[in-house]
Amino acid sequence: MIFDAPSFDRHEHVVFGHDPHTGLKAIIAIHRLGPEGRALGGCRMVAYATEEEALDDVLRLSKGMTYKAAVAHLPLGGAKSVIIGNPQKQKTPALLHSMGRFIDSLRGQYITSVDVGISGHDVAIMQADTRFAVGAGDPSPTTAFGVFRGIQAAVKYRMNTDDLSGIRVAVSGVGKVGFALCEFLYDHGVALTIADVNRDAVTHAVDRFQAKAVDVHRIASEEVDIFAPCALGGIIDTAAIDKMKASIIAGGANNQLAHDDVVADLKSKGILYAPDYVVNAGGLINVASEVVTYSAEEVHNRTDHIYDTLLEIFGKADAEDKTTLAAAEDIARQRYHARVAAVAA
Ligand code: NAD
Repeated sequence: MIFDAPSFDRHEHVVFGHDPHTGLKAIIAIHRLGPEGRALGGCRMVAYATEEEALDDVLRLSKGMTYKAAVAHLPLGGAKSVIIGNPQKQKTPALLHSMGRFIDSLRGQYITSVDVGISGHDVAIMQADTRFAVGAGDPSPTTAFGVFRGIQAAVKYRMNTDDLSGIRVAVSGVGKVGFALCEFLYDHGVALTIADVNRDAVTHAVDRFQAKAVDVHRIASEEVDIFAPCALGGIIDTAAIDKMKASIIAGGANNQLAHDDVVADLKSKGILYAPDYVVNAGGLINVASEVVTYSAEEVHNRTDHIYDTLLEIFGKADAEDKTTLAAAEDIARQRYHARVAAVAA
């Protein structure tokens, strides 16, 4: 049943870890090991309703990491891990140490990092038990820079200009990534509309960027040029697309599409969608720099390259009459196989 599941997609390793002393129940999934025998992906801790749900999540996320790393030109395969449990109630230092030992048992084939329910502080605890845990720092500024370059690429492609002054952008979520993105945009003369469930965050952004604040339920249908989701995933569904006035979607949030099929609706409505995992790859590049020892300058340059990658994706999607998501996957596969072939040669 597992081997035939669509999410399995020929995973190279799926390993189950259980420690009755600490209550650890975890799964590590390595989709592709990568040309140098290493795969990177965060660790997520969620109170899954069933073990099947946890397995499906880890397989799906790990496959996504293969594409994300490949499209960002990183020499790493894709992987992910999940800990089954409520992070508020069950996340203890002992459990994190136990997870660190589980990760270490794979001897570097899997390298972990932060994700939902697992913070940089938690990663630092795991680092006592394994060298193969990275991301104790904050990648948000790099992520925001990449999203900014993604927005510039979309504007270049659609409006044939690199000048953002006077462009209207709606940012949903002004947390770490959204706020830092607003700084780049504001400095380039963009007119900002923002929304956040956190009132303090709204006030801060309004004061700092002279932004217009709207309700979180209205932000996706604002009269703007660009919609930048920087909060939770699943925000773009058929109903949101029907009401959307923006002609570009480019933001930092993970898993923006409620499901992959809505990308066809975006295409038919003429909305240019910058695939989320391409636009927000700055965070991964930043984390990967701890594994492949990139300098700060190289992290910056690689994140800057998101601009060129997106122009390639947009051009391919139009030339081959496919969605930007399909074009991004083609490019990710090409880059992955090219790197594997280069290492084998
Ligand atoms: P964050 O928690 O700092 O900020 C999220 C903000 O969204 C908060 O201010 C929160 O109040 C707000 N929010 C929550 N629900 C909302 C809603 N329904 N509508 C509007 N606002 C809402 O998180 P972050 O690190 O800025 O990450 C934001 C998104 O970017 C997430 O989807 C994350 O997975 C993704 N991402 C982050 C990074 C990174 O480097 N931090 C990297 C890649 C992807």
